Amino acid sequence: MFWEKYPYTSIKRKVFESLSKNTNYRTENILGIPATFLDTDIFYDDAPFLNDAPFLSTLIANPNHIGVHTLGDEHEDFFSGTHDIEKDLIKICAEEIFGAEPFSYDGYVASGGTEANIEALWIYRNFYLQEYKADIKDIAIVYSTDTHYSIPKALNLLNVKGIELPVHPTTREIITKDFEHKIEDALVQGIKYFIVNVNMSTTMFGSVDDIGKITNFLNLLHVNYKLHVDGAYGGFIYPFVNTDNSFNFKNKNITSFSIDGHKMLQAPYGTGIFLIRKEYMKYVCTNEAGYVKGRDYTLCGSRSGANAVCVWMILRIHGSVGWTVKMRQLVDKAATISETLNEWGIKHYRHPDLNIVTIDAHYMSSALANKYHLVPDNHNEKPNWYKIVVMPHVKSGIIDNFLSELKNEQS
Ligand SMILES: *Cc1c(COP(=O)(O)O)cnc(C)c1O
Repeated sequence: MFWEKYPYTSIKRKVFESLSKNTNYRTENILGIPATFLDTDIFYDDAPFLNDAPFLSTLIANPNHIGVHTLGDEHEDFFSGTHDIEKDLIKICAEEIFGAEPFSYDGYVASGGTEANIEALWIYRNFYLQEYKADIKDIAIVYSTDTHYSIPKALNLLNVKGIELPVHPTTREIITKDFEHKIEDALVQGIKYFIVNVNMSTTMFGSVDDIGKITNFLNLLHVNYKLHVDGAYGGFIYPFVNTDNSFNFKNKNITSFSIDGHKMLQAPYGTGIFLIRKEYMKYVCTNEAGYVKGRDYTLCGSRSGANAVCVWMILRIHGSVGWTVKMRQLVDKAATISETLNEWGIKHYRHPDLNIVTIDAHYMSSALANKYHLVPDNHNEKPNWYKIVVMPHVKSGIIDNFLSELKNEQS
């Protein structure tokens, strides 16, 4: 994994260059698009600082990144300058983070992990409907109990059955026997096609599903499945801390990934990234999108080019080496918390390659959890767990204060 770090001046130059390649609402004859630059009473474009602000300048120029630009030349050419930046971003994610061969993938910047996950499951549902003439009742979506709620949301939207797999209460691993029984049962009941969601870090625990165990079993039984990796949380941290893992495009069992820019990467909301092998986007092509050159393959339709530019800028200012250092620091801090909790015999879960520490709620008053804004596993009943997420704003001093108050609560 390697992508070059650029100095800020180069980043700025590249963004302004690509903006200058876009069609400019201020200077060109544009009569046919129901869009323009941002409202000038609020976003006046002669603000002096804009010359030094590539992201804000992109926001104000307001390029639309509708469609999927990795699909080839057939796409809107009004904003080809910033589309190229998005293509470089998708290339970094697919080739460098997830080991894809050049030109073997498609991808786009979605509104978030939710959209990227739904896009994946939508593609696979349609793949089975079209390629196998499947009946909707022959398809099931498989996921663990610790899976993000966007997956059940997708089941509801797509009208596909779900198979939820229980996890072990302490290790948070999918229970192998239950998984195997549920798949065998489903086969007996006539499910022919499986869409499998695997978590490359869950939101609540930072647990990572054992993808090898899952795919070995499915392959052994010759199950017909498509596998999506939900890396919305873990995508920008786990592969950097654990460089020897099987969550990448070299693993033939994986077809797609979601990764959120607006979590670990500290990009603004609206920066979920969807990546999939070539020849799959076509299953969600909306042919009725007649006025969009190249048609539309996304769930969201119009989307801001500034989001793609921003994620690209963040990846480029750090480079892969800088980003790895930054992620390791977060994980090291989580490790320190975990070691202290171990010394004091406080039960908790932590994955060694992630920055989440989830503490058993029996060891903590709700007052203490509230004081430090720890997030419970549920807001309706008595929580079982409270989690600490070690983000860049979580300084050692706050951690120490929290830990000493937590220690005082143990008797
Ligand atoms: C946050 C998250 C999502 C959903 O992402 P949004 O960006 O909020 O739509 C999906 N999966 C996991 C594992 C997440 O952590």
